[in-house]
Amino acid sequence: MNRHLSDILIHLGEDRENYYNAVSPPVMQTSNFAFPDLATFRAAFADEAGNHIYTRGNNPTVAILRKKLAALEKTEDALVFGSGSAAVAAAVLSQVKAGDHVICVANPYTWTKNLIAGFLARFGVTHTYVDGRNTEEIAAAVQDNTTLLMLESPNSLVFHLQDLRACADLAKANGITTIIDNSHCSPLFQNPADLGIDIVVHSGTKYLNGHSDVVCGVVCAAKANIEKIFYGEYMTLGAIISPHNAALIIRGLRTLEIRMQRHEESALYIAKKLEAHPKVTEVLHTGLDSFAQRDLAKSQMRGNGGLFSFHIDAKNIEQAEAFFHRLERFLLAVSWGGHESLVIPTVAFYNIPGMPDSPIPFTMMRMFVGLEDPAWLWEDIENALRGL
Ligand SMILES: *Cc1c(COP(=O)(O)O)cnc(C)c1O
Repeated sequence: MNRHLSDILIHLGEDRENYYNAVSPPVMQTSNFAFPDLATFRAAFADEAGNHIYTRGNNPTVAILRKKLAALEKTEDALVFGSGSAAVAAAVLSQVKAGDHVICVANPYTWTKNLIAGFLARFGVTHTYVDGRNTEEIAAAVQDNTTLLMLESPNSLVFHLQDLRACADLAKANGITTIIDNSHCSPLFQNPADLGIDIVVHSGTKYLNGHSDVVCGVVCAAKANIEKIFYGEYMTLGAIISPHNAALIIRGLRTLEIRMQRHEESALYIAKKLEAHPKVTEVLHTGLDSFAQRDLAKSQMRGNGGLFSFHIDAKNIEQAEAFFHRLERFLLAVSWGGHESLVIPTVAFYNIPGMPDSPIPFTMMRMFVGLEDPAWLWEDIENALRGL
């Protein structure tokens, strides 16, 4: 089933003879599907996961996307959700019941943290946070009732990695299911299923769509797990993607390979320039030789994407704010993975009414390098650094 990447992105799942040989698939904007007779209706209901009955279950446009995503992550099947958080929630909820225990890496994505610490606690599921860089710490956290190990590698804020093969082996030996949030790498730069991870989730809002106009989530896994989630969380909670948005993601995937190449090259170019600059004290980028887990990154990732962070030599909050204000070619916005370059200075998370200040030092900038000319972007950063 190993299809060429080009074949997956450009052709897989698109049975053009079914729709007048149109090169781009139509958007099947329908809620339900009619049946010619009772026998066909009954046969469809005998296998609800395998038939087009109602769009909360199956839709032909979404089905094209599911095939491409499963092939990209090298899993048997995939489901697409209305957001990355919906995908994470469906995957996690499918693996726990009251009385179970979850091990989760420290500092996961904000709403993953809320799911595990805030939400699951209401249903009698306990958890332990671990420093995922240390597999022994994960092993020490295993309890008799541990059913799930939740990973995020690299993490999208502190860029910590987990040794995915070691985690998968540890989990298998203890009858624990593994889930990883693979948004940072996209399926192009890391395939956790190849290393033994059971369930791979993505915020498709990021690289998969790539154009900052759709919110979407993905769960990739073996058939048995996907069927379990389909009849459980997917159909019950109903957090599906619309056919129209699925078509936009299919369109986004056409350019996934060239976009990822561009993000990787440009981000590394800028990270290296930053590292060499006297006003920059530290650069955290998984592709730099100075990155603490560089060997592990090389062994399980094929690339590094556009997201990284760095510390500037700012003496106080005012200097950090002034650096940020001098940047003109980066937007101040959450999320990442689209066409546009972004920066979030840590000071953005200071002085928010009703919230404690971020524990991260005010010198840190999280940067996402988009599809613009990297030299043009560097010119802007260099100018902003000049004022320090
Ligand atoms: C954005 C993000 C999510 C949540 O995805 P949404 O599509 O915004 O719901 C989950 N995990 C990571 C790592 C993310 O960056």
